[in-house]
Amino acid sequence: MDGVQPGNRRDWRTRLIQPEVRAPGGFVSLAPAVHRGSTVVFERLADAQDDWRTGRYTYGLYGTPTVLELGARIADLEGAHHSFVVPGGQAAIVLAYLAFCTADSHVLVPESAYGPNKELGPGLLQGLGIDVETYPPTIGAAIASLIRPETRLIWCESPGSITMEVQDVPAIAAAAHERGVPVALDNTYAAGVLFDAFAAGVDVSVQALTKYVGGHSDLLLGTVSVRDKTTYDRVGPLYRLLGLAVSPDDCALALRGLETLAVRLDALQQSTLAVATWLKQQPSVARVLHPAFPDCPGHDIWASQFTGSSSVFSIVFAEDWDAARVARFVDALRLFRIGYSWGGTTSLVMAYPAAGSNARAYGARLVRLNVGLEATGDLIGDLQQALAAC
Ligand SMILES: *Cc1c(COP(=O)(O)O)cnc(C)c1O
Repeated sequence: MDGVQPGNRRDWRTRLIQPEVRAPGGFVSLAPAVHRGSTVVFERLADAQDDWRTGRYTYGLYGTPTVLELGARIADLEGAHHSFVVPGGQAAIVLAYLAFCTADSHVLVPESAYGPNKELGPGLLQGLGIDVETYPPTIGAAIASLIRPETRLIWCESPGSITMEVQDVPAIAAAAHERGVPVALDNTYAAGVLFDAFAAGVDVSVQALTKYVGGHSDLLLGTVSVRDKTTYDRVGPLYRLLGLAVSPDDCALALRGLETLAVRLDALQQSTLAVATWLKQQPSVARVLHPAFPDCPGHDIWASQFTGSSSVFSIVFAEDWDAARVARFVDALRLFRIGYSWGGTTSLVMAYPAAGSNARAYGARLVRLNVGLEATGDLIGDLQQALAAC
């Protein structure tokens, strides 16, 4: 069964693995190259190291050129020292917690934080001896009164998930830094570009690239962006040890997403404002929680610190609406699809009957909408027919 071996050629079975021919070099394309790979090969044994800190490629786990390019591009956009690319926004949140907290640490998290962030407190973190305390998102500089000697991290998320409170991040960061406490911000709403986290004094900015950077509901990725070398040295070793591998294919999709991020955000902002403005005029809608509207908590802060709004906001139905009527409304929608997440091209809706302590005032009357890239008139028509149906 041996293959024919003309001259000194190796067996064809060997050539399947270690080819002797290659495509010509010099291909310069506009599309991001997808570099896959676990093993990185070295010229000499002396060069072989399993260490991300060398600054050279040593093992695929710490990023292939595709992964590191995405990280470098996000760091550049956010003005970060470095961005670690992780498997999702939630992984980014966990990495930030674990980088700064050990047993007996105390952490402050806004009541309006992303649900699974808050779930980490009584779950994983409590088991590790880390005490997570929630605080009212609009607390501002008064956060100082909640800082303890053992406080190791303060989270911000602005606007908050679901209830949309805009936080005074610079005031919180100033109070935190006075006591030597680092501040992490979940900057997903702003896609890392509509709010300048590092100018606001934040030390770590996390983002779910799953939302606006990916932008098409087809990938899960996150980033942990660090302000400086000190923060980098804090996060980096843990990043390596947690084995937070990401797919270069997903990173290539995210790099493609970046190319249209500006036009998508622009279109989403305009359409969302139009939809939200229409909803505000409906008698059955008591409140529109959108940071560009004055009745959104923290609207003034948004107006002075953000360069735009994005596609996700919530409405609160009138007092006479109950959970069943809200469900009838949601089920009657045709273009707004029922689903979690946001930031893609498809309009989405979700009801949050138990969104946490800050949402309690809204009872079961709160519905979150994500406006996609469908025609604005059709989206308003969809909301109109659903309101009429319930
Ligand atoms: C979606 C989301 C996350 C989590 O991102 P995944 O990529 O889904 O893990 C974190 N924070 C906020 C504010 C989010 O909306």
